[in-house]
Amino acid sequence: MKKKNYVVIPERELGVHEECGVIGIKSSTKKELARDIYYGLFALQHRGQESAGIAVSYDEGKIAYYKNMGLVSEVFHEEELELLPVTDTAIGHVRYSTSNSSNVINAQPVVFYGKFGRMSLAYNGSIINADVLKNNMIQRGHIFQSSTDAEVICALINDCIKDNVEEGILTASRMLHGAFAFVVIIGGKMIAVRDNHGLKPLVMGERNGEIIFASESCALDALDATIIRDVEAGEMIIIDENMQISSRCIASACMGPCIFEYVYLARSDSTIDGVSVYDSRFECGKKLAELYKIDADIVSGVPDSAVVAAFGYAAASGLHYVDALSKNRYIGRTFIQPDQSMRENSVKIKLNAFRSNIKGKRLVLIDDSIVRGTTSKKIVSLLRHCGAKEVHMIIASPPVKEPCYFGVDMDTKEQLIANNRTEEEIRDIIGADSLHFIPLDLLVSSCGGHKYCTGCFDGNYSVDLKEKN
Ligand code: SF4
Repeated sequence: MKKKNYVVIPERELGVHEECGVIGIKSSTKKELARDIYYGLFALQHRGQESAGIAVSYDEGKIAYYKNMGLVSEVFHEEELELLPVTDTAIGHVRYSTSNSSNVINAQPVVFYGKFGRMSLAYNGSIINADVLKNNMIQRGHIFQSSTDAEVICALINDCIKDNVEEGILTASRMLHGAFAFVVIIGGKMIAVRDNHGLKPLVMGERNGEIIFASESCALDALDATIIRDVEAGEMIIIDENMQISSRCIASACMGPCIFEYVYLARSDSTIDGVSVYDSRFECGKKLAELYKIDADIVSGVPDSAVVAAFGYAAASGLHYVDALSKNRYIGRTFIQPDQSMRENSVKIKLNAFRSNIKGKRLVLIDDSIVRGTTSKKIVSLLRHCGAKEVHMIIASPPVKEPCYFGVDMDTKEQLIANNRTEEEIRDIIGADSLHFIPLDLLVSSCGGHKYCTGCFDGNYSVDLKEKN
């Protein structure tokens, strides 16, 4: 039988891959919370398109769940939502795999039966000592089913529980090194944890007395909830069965969140750790305009994450903003790979140029980052092919020179175009008329001037890599 030509297309071929999104809702009354989680997951879809899942607590300790491969809209229909009982405690997850395999066994939330009955966890991050922890537990008789850190965390929590669940989660969290933000449900309780560098975002919101945790505030907006505050770095928040909120310290905070959230990962309408993603991107664009005055006719941004920086550039430079590229928003997890003759032009399936906007024009094109460079090259070529007279690329982040060990999919130095190349060499490869990057200090000041992880740009990671297994 002829083999079908279906393949999984890595979702963020247009840049780096995305991380996971988590959400949890704790209510004082039983209701169809799975539906709210579903809408929240829609708002977090940009953080992961590989799989989606929802778990709800019911009947004092039982957990019902459904998860599968695909977009939220592909995984959940009326039928699946109706299967999930009314509840006062629910969590959800969207996933993009980085180092782990693309398989439903790795989908989240993870649900398991442990010392205190059923428990479920939805997690975003990368644990750099996961293999050490896992091997240690295997030696002591544990078995594992998937290749995810999430399962390691669940097993570790169960291992650490003596006679109190919260103490077990606290102890386990203290043993984890790396980036993590997760929500757990057990019985009628919800527990949210963020690593002590705050590498992964996790915000707490409120809606009519309900408490909601989410990776980004855009999910709170979707549910008509308001932000209470971000979960602090190194904090564990417990919402008990009676909606009593308490906070524990897992480790003293040493704030160093991932600056790439502002560059690319997060949605522009989110606020993370009190800093508006939109404002930081707009500010980057303004700073770029002050720094690089290009003799050009128009400015545009690569959709979606660079558009705001391009607005900022236009505002500060006086150049007219136009749409140069249109993005197809309806490409799901899988589609049929173009044949060899189309493959070189595969970017055209995702992006198309507005010919009449760019024909004969000298264009400044802002992008959020250059990681591998392959897409930038195709975009420049597409714009020239469609009539642009000049293409000057300006990047709203510094060159990515180092791998990320914390869940963002740029994990080897060799795959990075800026590894051992000058900016002129990169410009030559991508075929732009000129190429500029924002200096790191200006990126940091655009994002509020806080202390951030900037490891992929300058090697200064928030977490000591000596902990890496
Ligand atoms: S290395 Fe880069 S992508 Fe990774 S956590 Fe640090 S800033 Fe974020």
